[in-house]
Amino acid sequence: MPQLKTAAIVLRSADYREYDRMLTLLTPGGGRVDAVCRGCRRPKSPLLAASECFCEGEYMLYENRGRTSVTACAVTDSFYPLREDYDLLRYAAYMLAVCEAAAQPGLPSLDLFTLLTRSLSRLTYLHMEPKSVTAAFLLLFSAASGYRPRLSECVRCSRILPAEEIRHFDIEEGGLCCAECARALPHTAQLYPLTSSGLCWMRDVLRRGIEKTDCPPEDAPLSLLKTYVESRLEKKLPASRGI
Ligand SMILES: [Zn+2]
Repeated sequence: MPQLKTAAIVLRSADYREYDRMLTLLTPGGGRVDAVCRGCRRPKSPLLAASECFCEGEYMLYENRGRTSVTACAVTDSFYPLREDYDLLRYAAYMLAVCEAAAQPGLPSLDLFTLLTRSLSRLTYLHMEPKSVTAAFLLLFSAASGYRPRLSECVRCSRILPAEEIRHFDIEEGGLCCAECARALPHTAQLYPLTSSGLCWMRDVLRRGIEKTDCPPEDAPLSLLKTYVESRLEKKLPASRGI
């Protein structure tokens, strides 16, 4: 680096020393960046807004002896209305937690950055149903991360399955599991109940996107998608309890 201007969004913010904060940023070009924001908690600091969770902006970063600090920021969007609605805030916080668990330092993350900022906009400004926005975020996240669920055939025997026959999603194999294969599996297998309407919702959101689907938002299988993504991340995310 030593000086770098980059778009970024704050995934985590923790008070540090008397007036500082430690930030975890997601950047499109460099993935996760941990940076100190010095003096941001002093009265009238120009960096106060830039150090809050959800703040998206053009950040100026400076690296010295292995430590990165924020020296300036032009805020693009603070997603401020999220802070005034506790229900929305819980869903938004969960999406940040998923990004924090997934983002790696130095790994380009343009898809993840775009998915997160668009999903936060849908919650904040388009007033879409938070449960379906979050489920779509998880579904598209899984596709972008290389484990797009297989939603046409049984993942065990490859038989093409009509939607009305669907009962189970196989978390381990990442897709549909037919009734016959489900019966043959040990009790320890991670089978998640899936309705045909939940399946139709996932298929349509993958094909046309959350803003174009005609499927009702209440069909979004959020709980299944949380279990699926967290099993792939190999992390239980505490923020999951809030939604
Ligand atoms: Zn099968």
